[in-house]
Amino acid sequence: MSTPFLWHNGRIKPWADATVHVTTHALHYGSSVFEGERVYATPQGPAYFRLADHTRRLFESARVYDIDIGFSEEEINAACLEVIRANRMRAAYVRPIVFRGAGGLGVLPKDGSPVDVAIMAMEWGAYLGDAREKGANVCVSSWHRPAPNTLPSWAKAGGNYLSSQLIAAEARRGGYDEGIALGHNGLLSEGAGENLFLVRKGKLLTPPSSAGILAGITRDSVMTLAEDLGLTVEERDLPREALYSADEVFMTGTAAEITPVRSVDRKPVGAGEPGPITRALQQRFFGLFDGSTEDRWGWLEVVPAS
Ligand code: PMP
Repeated sequence: MSTPFLWHNGRIKPWADATVHVTTHALHYGSSVFEGERVYATPQGPAYFRLADHTRRLFESARVYDIDIGFSEEEINAACLEVIRANRMRAAYVRPIVFRGAGGLGVLPKDGSPVDVAIMAMEWGAYLGDAREKGANVCVSSWHRPAPNTLPSWAKAGGNYLSSQLIAAEARRGGYDEGIALGHNGLLSEGAGENLFLVRKGKLLTPPSSAGILAGITRDSVMTLAEDLGLTVEERDLPREALYSADEVFMTGTAAEITPVRSVDRKPVGAGEPGPITRALQQRFFGLFDGSTEDRWGWLEVVPAS
């Protein structure tokens, strides 16, 4: 997984040199915020997908927890480009992380306590393996997402991923590729690490961003691409059983990209294989990276050679 270099607290350094102390606050209390971004190999060279939007979300997450990143958004964007250049990568999954460092073990750190910032790039193919082509077998988890007034879901914080681990582990134990969680209100929310879409009567339906979900950047991109294809997109409350009568179901995320769902709780979705709207959206989405979909939104940012 490692690459020769990463960026840590303002400079590029060898991967192995970026270590932390066991008293690091984030290890004890989950006080980190992070991003997951992708760089695609495009005809113009390696290009980030929606880098500025990811960096903006990182800063918004940090703001929720009063974590002072200590660098500007421009500096973080530049550092993300630098990591790709330093490692001479053509494609990558990139993980910027901001975390409370070693400076005392009180739950609420004193003002001025250390904050570490690191950005690492690694090679990472399809998140759920061949499910991206064949479709994933998923279950509805017995674990629910935290209520909005417990852990804020718009903040992509390390601590939130304990919920994701419970959902994913239960799914894997049951022989599924992934788990979908209900929200605090008993309605559909999202997957362990993906947003959720249903196709019903030709319309695209997705739980609202207030449903205790991460406001996914892939979700937003898919909604834009769908509208561009002339599809109606509705953000609305959906009960669990909507999954069982959907014509198509798919999940979105930076790691998962667009992953079709072929069964839910062992009931086949539609014909039990990826449906035509999911396929069309995949084609439009992946077309951004080979140039067959015009990037009319300025989503791609080519990594300059120097
Ligand atoms: N929900 C959760 C819980 C996630 O971890 C992710 C992955 N970041 C997503 C949704 C999808 O978000 P995005 O498209 O911005 O990667």
